[in-house]
Amino acid sequence: MSYDYDLFVIGAGSGGVRASRIAAGLGAKVAVAEDLYLGGTCVNVGCVPKKLFVYGSHFAEEFEAAAGFGWTVGETSFDWPTLRDNKTKEIERLNGIYDNMLKNAGVEIIHGRGTIVDAHTVAVGDKQYTAERILVAVGGWPMVPDIAGKEHIISSNEVFYLDEFPKRVIVVGGGYIAVEFAGIFQGYGSETHLLYRGDMFLRGFDDDIREFTASEMRKKGVDLQFNTNVTEIEKQADGSLLVSLTNGSTLEVDAVMYATGRKSKTENLGLENTAVELTAKGSIVVNEDFQTAEPSIYAVGDVIDRMQLTPVALAEGMALARNLYSEKKDHKVDYDFIATAVFCQPNIGTVGYTEAQAKEKYGSVAVYKSEFKHMKHTLSGLNERTFMKLLVDQASDRVVGCHMVGADAGEVVQGLAVAIKAGATKADFDSTIGIHPTAAEEFVTMREPAYIL
Ligand code: NDP
Repeated sequence: MSYDYDLFVIGAGSGGVRASRIAAGLGAKVAVAEDLYLGGTCVNVGCVPKKLFVYGSHFAEEFEAAAGFGWTVGETSFDWPTLRDNKTKEIERLNGIYDNMLKNAGVEIIHGRGTIVDAHTVAVGDKQYTAERILVAVGGWPMVPDIAGKEHIISSNEVFYLDEFPKRVIVVGGGYIAVEFAGIFQGYGSETHLLYRGDMFLRGFDDDIREFTASEMRKKGVDLQFNTNVTEIEKQADGSLLVSLTNGSTLEVDAVMYATGRKSKTENLGLENTAVELTAKGSIVVNEDFQTAEPSIYAVGDVIDRMQLTPVALAEGMALARNLYSEKKDHKVDYDFIATAVFCQPNIGTVGYTEAQAKEKYGSVAVYKSEFKHMKHTLSGLNERTFMKLLVDQASDRVVGCHMVGADAGEVVQGLAVAIKAGATKADFDSTIGIHPTAAEEFVTMREPAYIL
């Protein structure tokens, strides 16, 4: 049977674009349907604009730090529309690059929402397209719980386009997005409250990292309230929001941002017309080769909810396209030792196991820790501190965990991740001569374990 396309991709985000381009480059006839924006969450309402906001939010501290180095900084002020609109221009430039990239690769872009009609047919608007294979790469969407006054909540979808920057803000959640945005709001001068329902935010990260980050954020002025949640949000006559909390108190703010996780966008996709199976949380179940229970339908990226990270979606999309359309069929995604960063202030960079996980997996583990004042702050007058931690499996001497909270932790840990993924031992770290003076050299000069588990 002949089809309109070899591969029909639904969703032009990180995973979908990568799979489309690689497949087309390998000779497949490919179409991609997208109803929102090219580049998906990462480019439009995620990693990219977030990182631009993070860069900008550091200036307040830099102005403060400058005095110790002899600078006199005049009066400063922050203009939100300038940042917002410059960011939007940059995102539109990137949208254009994605458009060119796809077209140059020979991928047909179909603007509109794709819904699956059957195992080989996708409808977009009133047109139907057939394909030998369908790839679902529709990503996720912010999940906001039902509470009274939910209509006043903003999520990471809206925060990049606000008319006015909130002078007072509550961020709810304790994951990547909440912690990053608390830092962004604080940096731009908002009175910032971060509410987390549990004892300590950043669940899943190393406990020392969680505690240290909390203490640094508090020092910078973020009001962290743990074991606290919102019960109701009420809009007042002056437009401000009166927020009632589980501890019985109230806060008056200008905006409430929820970052309480993201849900796979599998609703109204026509999956009920196929044999595709979903998890209890609504994500698509795939096998090792990203194939669903419907053999002609595949899925990658946030919609399969393995790790909601752009580089993971890219790797999945690339492995799938290569396995389907190249001679070699053994491309696998290795989910071990994937480094990540949280762009809070200061940053968290991490790769490998937490202390608790390492103990569970390896038994005897040597824990190296270092906490210090960054050289810059000897003159800056700022009291930010840096924390680093290495976990070493005693049996093999392999470094199995590396964690940092400090300036540019993401940049530092990305480099170390190559060595750690390759199996570097503590002896390899010890024999590496540091770059002086850097904060990162501390990772190769930690000699004595703090303790051995
Ligand atoms: P996360 O899943 O990381 O965190 C969700 C947070 O919300 C958790 O602290 C969770 O608490 C809390 N929560 C969940 N439900 C409720 C509720 N009903 N009431 C109150 N709190 C609730 O989600 P994010 O939205 O922060 O981010 C989504 C994903 O995006 C992340 O998993 C990450 O993979 C990715 N991301 C990556 C970034 C990066 O690489 N730098 C940046 C931003 C996002 P609990 O811990 O108790 O479950």
